[in-house]
Amino acid sequence: STMPALLASLSNAAKHGILFKSGVFLEKLSLVNVVAFDKTGTLTKGCPSVKIAKYVHSDYKREELISIIYTIEKNSTHPLAKAIMENLQTETKGLPKDLSCFEDFPGNGVSAEIEKVNWKIGNRSWTGISEKQECELLSEMEEGEGEAGHTVVYVTADGELAAYFLIGDTIREESVEAIQSLQQKQILTLMLTGDSKRGAEAIGRLAKVDQVGYSCMPEDKVNTVKNWRDKQNVVAMIGDGVNDAPALAVADVGVAMGMGSDAAIETADVVLIKNDLSKLLYAMKLSERLSKIV
Ligand code: ADP
Ligand code: MG
Repeated sequence: STMPALLASLSNAAKHGILFKSGVFLEKLSLVNVVAFDKTGTLTKGCPSVKIAKYVHSDYKREELISIIYTIEKNSTHPLAKAIMENLQTETKGLPKDLSCFEDFPGNGVSAEIEKVNWKIGNRSWTGISEKQECELLSEMEEGEGEAGHTVVYVTADGELAAYFLIGDTIREESVEAIQSLQQKQILTLMLTGDSKRGAEAIGRLAKVDQVGYSCMPEDKVNTVKNWRDKQNVVAMIGDGVNDAPALAVADVGVAMGMGSDAAIETADVVLIKNDLSKLLYAMKLSERLSKIV
């Protein structure tokens, strides 16, 4: 029987902070030839920070915008929401606002109603900011910020730009090496992100992934994983967000980051408890060894 070998490998994995929900996935891992990574919180650290904050709405004082944005983002567990709240915390003195109709749109942002005004916080296209406007704002902001994987989050009040944040997202130390090791194994590496082209391509370049998919809605991530599977590949997807959960479910092996959302952790087949991408390679090594014993 190969059961003892499988159990030994599973417990070895567990000791390294790799939690398999079933031995089946440990066995499958050595067959994987495509790995799709999420960007924010997966290839990058889950702790981005705000570099520049601008408050531009003429009807609202800065303090007022700060307490509105804080009140809305408090309801989100997104890494970018945490970054924004951390930035605002030092400044927020205003009273918390009464909020209604809070909604989370995974991959796009969050919205809520405050005093009959509809607020949206999220990416460019979803908040209704034109590419032209973004270009103008960015050329002004990014001067002196250098080349980095910046994400811009926009805040609109009834469709009018109220504030925006330039958020610096640092790539995990082990990301580049993990990608390289996969490529050495002839495994195709993809990055699938809800972020826009600019931020996506910057991180894609830094991480040196083979292909980058940007402005991905949750279902776009699903379809990409499905398409690769349909072409006779064995696909692993690794992510942390609510927006990654559906893609984790359709992948041959779904991997969640330990700090990720409940939805990702519950849906995944494997959890990297310590958020360390190099553990994915360690798990693959265990899987290869196991397949040789079997
Ligand atoms: P990724 O797929 O790289 O993990 P997400 O899909 O989670 O990225 O997020 C995509 C985009 O959605 C972000 O770049 C951001 O613009 C926007 N977004 C999502 N949730 C929030 C939020 N709570 N606050 C601000 N922006 C958000
Ligand atoms: Mg993410």
